[in-house]
Parts: sequence; structure tokens; C-alpha cells
Amino acid sequence: MAEQGDERTLKWWGWGYDDQQPDRAGLEAVAKGVHERLGFEPSGVVEAVNLEDLDLPPSRLTPTPTLSDLFSDSPRDRASHAVGRAYRDIVRTIRGDLPNPPDLVARPGSPEEVDAVLGWCEDSNAAVIPFGGGTSVVGGVEARLPEDSDHAGVVSLDLKRLDRVLEVDPVSLAARIEGGATGPGLEGQLREHGLTLRHYPQSFEFSTLGGWIATRAGGHFATGETHIDDLVESARMIAPSGEWKSRRLPGSGAGPSPDRLVIGSEGTLGVIVDAWMRVRERPRWRANCSVLFEDFFDGAAAVRALAQSGLQPANCRLLDATEAEINGVSADGSSVLVIGFESARVPVVERLDQAVEIARDCGGSPGSIESRDAEDRAEGRPGEASASVDWRNAFLAAPYLRDALICSGVLTETFETAITWDRFDEFTRSVLEEARRVTAELSDTPVEGPGSPSVSCRITHAYSDGAAPYFTVLAPSRPGAEVAQWDEIKRAVSEVLDSAGATITHHHAVGRDHREWYDRQRPQPFADALIAAKRALDPHGLMNPGVLVDPGGH
Ligand SMILES: Cc1cc2nc3c(=O)[nH]c(=O)nc-3n(C[C@H](O)[C@H](O)[C@H](O)COP(=O)(O)OP(=O)(O)OC[C@H]3O[C@@H](n4cnc5c(N)ncnc54)[C@H](O)[C@@H]3O)c2cc1C
Repeated sequence: MAEQGDERTLKWWGWGYDDQQPDRAGLEAVAKGVHERLGFEPSGVVEAVNLEDLDLPPSRLTPTPTLSDLFSDSPRDRASHAVGRAYRDIVRTIRGDLPNPPDLVARPGSPEEVDAVLGWCEDSNAAVIPFGGGTSVVGGVEARLPEDSDHAGVVSLDLKRLDRVLEVDPVSLAARIEGGATGPGLEGQLREHGLTLRHYPQSFEFSTLGGWIATRAGGHFATGETHIDDLVESARMIAPSGEWKSRRLPGSGAGPSPDRLVIGSEGTLGVIVDAWMRVRERPRWRANCSVLFEDFFDGAAAVRALAQSGLQPANCRLLDATEAEINGVSADGSSVLVIGFESARVPVVERLDQAVEIARDCGGSPGSIESRDAEDRAEGRPGEASASVDWRNAFLAAPYLRDALICSGVLTETFETAITWDRFDEFTRSVLEEARRVTAELSDTPVEGPGSPSVSCRITHAYSDGAAPYFTVLAPSRPGAEVAQWDEIKRAVSEVLDSAGATITHHHAVGRDHREWYDRQRPQPFADALIAAKRALDPHGLMNPGVLVDPGGH
């Protein structure tokens, strides 16, 4: 059997590479910084157990000799594929609490090998969990089977060897990309053609195209093409019952779209091996500006006005005062709206001017406009290092910081949703209030004032009829009981989302952790139709059992 070789070793328990984790002194400095900046005292430094000290249950599966080169049962592989990258995943992994690792990790290098692995799993009655970057924050890749499962074991099917851009159609601006290609991997290959997908989830560095499609990921564009859905032209999936391939079409009115069933299927129907994706020329013109608001909800009114204006900014993110301060964008108690436009063909500064006027009408105070061409030379207007640059840098560094925060005794939870504008203000206030109340109660801190938890909100995506607010909670963790603490906060805020009629997720997917609320949200006849589709594509219920639907029930 073969273990993955990697010149620079990925952390088996967290974000990034082994050499990127701060040492104990570094973690103590992070804890001190948290106390100074956020006012509460983290609960103390915790470091990950040694891989060699992990006590994993023995593997229950032995691959057939003809396929054994595709499989690994090494402790590193099994541990690093046992869970995703939510707070509760990282905490459990650090403590070595991994009772359900996959029995085997498979690394097929072609669609034919994917098919062969699925065939062997079917013969062996092994459950299969497709695994892209493993960055799921909803238990989507966790090798935990439902209690009534009778599978003989679990195979985590890692797609990362399927990492190529296979074809480019420069006339239609589309590219066929394999499902295991990561953000930097596919962008690097598209760059050779002067093209880009421009889908930037925060997990961009390690998440994959197949994972984005399977989870309906939300990316860089804050208006317009917000979800990966809008960029999929056609998809190819290998299901246990055979291949599923849709036609390349710019649009079609021929019945329900087959792609719609693949997008968001979360590994429950088959393995997405490649997809034709809509790409674009690399942007040459960019213009950004940040606008300060004394009141977050005035900023939200500006986001609404912009989303309804038809201007379609590429970026239109509103950070409340706490988010702005944590991200180093502003420290004067203002909320910050970051607006950006980009184009491959025409200068965009005029559109930015119009957008800034709209924001000003809503009570905002604009900073300087920064306009750049492809060579990154400031053009048109005087521009300084802008809040948008600070925000982007902080955005990409955040997952690394999160590991350091967790190891220094900070509970970090993020959750996101979407709601129509008519209910936005009241809803957002009630979520913030409940998150603050329950977090303080579970963390033994005051609700307000010195030592209280940090609860903040940003708007990540905006539509003409509503927006996606994204919440971040930071509090002292309860050593040894972090998972229970997280679960209770998650449950309380999920109940608020559900009772307000909002969605349980705007872009983090359902996985195992959101099932209860997803089941309440979807119409029952739709659940029945989904179960019927699953039975047709996956008759033995091998694919990611426990996610989205239960094959035997609902
Ligand atoms: C720090 C951090 C930041 C994040 N930021 C964002 C963000 O900005 N936007 C966003 O949308 N999400 C975000 N996420 C969540 C996560 O990155 C997304 O859900 C992402 O799309 C998962 O991609 P992946 O390749 O890592 O998939 P995985 O985590 O490996 O898998 C996710 C699900 O998709 C299935 N799957 C994976 N690959 C395939 C395939 N080829 N075929 C069929 N099924 C498959 C899996 O079985 C699983 O159910 C973030 C997560 C973290 C940890």
C-alpha cells in the first residue's frame, strides 16, 4: 500500500503545513494578544498530540492486491482524513480523539481508477467518502457512519491526484478541470492561457473544484456569480450505477437541469471527476474603495442599494466594527464597506464612483479611491494601501490564525446564513444577541463589557432581494469540554436561524452537522425525490452515508 509522498508535509490536524505552526512561546504570545485586543482571558495553551501516540482502531478492510497501490492505511493518512476542518474537528484531532478514522484512504489517478475503487467498495460493502481538500466545516468528510449502518468499513476517496486542467476552449471561455484540482493548482494552469476561474473561497489554498461543486461553495464575487453553481457549464460524475455526464450548454430549457442534482450533492450520489467551467480573461482593470459607517445597519442599507443598483460590484463586503478591528481594517469603531470592481476590458473607476455616491447617500464616509491597471500601477486617482488590501490579506491569513487561536485556548465559531432584506436588520440583531448570550453563559464570561466574548458580523454576499450575514464568535474555551461548548452554541444559533425562516447555510453546506435543520428546511416531497435519486445512482447506499439524506428513510 502507498502513503502519499509530499515534499512539504501538510499538518495532519489543522491548516497548512507542519512548519507553519507557532511553537509554545508563539502560542503564549497569541494568547496574550487576544487578552489585550479582545479583553477576555484564553483558557491556556494546548498542543496537538504526537501522531505516533494516536491510538487508532485497527483497519477493518484489506484492499484486493490488484488495487493495493491505490490504497493507504498509514496512521497519518487515516488520521488526516478522519474529520474536516471545523473548530470541533481541530479540537478533537489535537486531543487525539479520533474514534472513527477511515479504514483506508484511496488515491485514484484517473476516472477509471475511481470506478475501480467504487466497484471494489461495492463488492466489499465499504462506505465511500469523497475527499477533496478535506476543508469541510460541517462534518462532510467525517468517517462517522449512521448508527444503523451495516457497512464493513469506510474508504476515504481522496481526489487530489486528479488535479489537471484537461482542455481549454478559448472561444467559449470554458475549461475542463479535474475534480481534485486545488485553487492555486487550477489557477496556475489557467494562467498559462491568460484565463482565470476567479472563485476564491477563504479555503482556496487547499479546497478543490470537486469539493466546491459538491458543496455549492461561495467565492470571491459578492454579487452576481456568488456561488460555484453559476460557473459550472457541465459536470461528469462517476456514480456506483455508472457515469453521469451532462452536455456542454450555455443554457437550456430542456426540463430540470442534470447539473443541478450534481451541484450540492455532497458526495452522496457519486464522485465528480471533472467539469467544464466558465472561465474569464484575467482582469486588467481594478478599482477599490472603503466606506466607513457609524452604524452597521446604515452600511447594510448601502449594500442593499448597491445590490439593487445593477452596478454589480465584484466585491461588496461589509464588516461590523469588531470585524473591522480584528482584521486590522479600522479601529475607530466604524463599520467598513469594501467595494471593488474589476474588468478585463474596460476601466471601472466610473462605476466605482457611482457606487461610492450610493454609499455616501446612505450615510457613509468614503476613503480614497484606488484604481489600478494590470501592471498594478496606481492610475487615475491618488491611492494608498487600502482597507480592501488589508481586508484581503487578513481574510487569507485567517485560517492559519484560527489554528493558533484554538491552540491558545480560544473557542472560534463561524456560521453563516441568508435572509431577505425585509427581515435583515431585526434578524441580524436577534442572532447577534442570542449568540452573545449563549456564548457568555457557556464560557462563564459577562455578556457585555470587559471579559465578554467577541461576537461579530459581516455581510459576505449580497443579492437584490437579500444578503448573507456571516457571524464570528470568539470566547475562552472550556478545556476538555470544547466540543460540548461549541455544539451548544451551534445548536442555539441554528435554532434562531431556523425559527426566523433563514437558511441553515448560505455556502458551508449541510454535511452531518446541519442535517437536523436542513431536514426541517426542505419540503418533504423534495426529500422523497432526493432519496429516490440516491437509490437510482447509489443502490447500495455506499456514498457518504448520513449526509443530506438517509438512503433507507428520509
Ligand atoms: C478556514 C476555512 C474557510 C472556508 N471558507 C469558505 C468560503 O469562503 N466559502 C465556502 O463556500 N466554503 C468555505 N469553507 C468550507 C469548505 O472549504 C468548502 O465547503 C469547500 O467547498 C470544500 O472543498 P474541499 O475540496 O475541501 O471538499 P471536502 O471538504 O473534501 O468535501 C466537502 C464535501 O464534498 C464532498 N466532495 C468533495 N470532493 C468531491 C468530489 N470530487 N465529488 C463528489 N463529492 C465530493 C465530500 O464528500 C464532502 O461531503 C471554509 C472552510 C475552512 C476550514
